[in-house]
Amino acid sequence: MKIKIKEKNVITLYDLIMAKIRIKIEYDSCPVYEYVKVMRCFKCLGFNHKAKDCVNKIACSKCGDSHITRDCNSDRIRCVNCYDLVKKNLAEVDVNHVAFSVKCPAYQKYIQSKNNRK
Ligand SMILES: [Zn+2]
Ligand SMILES: [Zn+2]
Ligand SMILES: [Zn+2]
Repeated sequence: MKIKIKEKNVITLYDLIMAKIRIKIEYDSCPVYEYVKVMRCFKCLGFNHKAKDCVNKIACSKCGDSHITRDCNSDRIRCVNCYDLVKKNLAEVDVNHVAFSVKCPAYQKYIQSKNNRK
């Protein structure tokens, strides 16, 4: 089953519910697949660049610390992108989700800014 945004910025309740279910199912097995084409760095998990161009530290998609997700043994869930926004006082957002969550405020922000630019 695939989640798709039918029009720009239009997300139906159905899509939100499906997204929630997918996160639950795929949380331990594999990252939630992006339903909007986003260039994403798998090293620092930042947006708009690739790992080979990355100048940032490696980040864990689960706890946000500096190690690869596979080596993670932390119980903490913290989104590295949202935590960064909070640290820099750019936004008051919830950081208790994995970085690949479709609910991630930093990710949503990025998609919005991308759509606005078009
Ligand atoms: Zn990066
Ligand atoms: Zn970790
Ligand atoms: Zn986030």
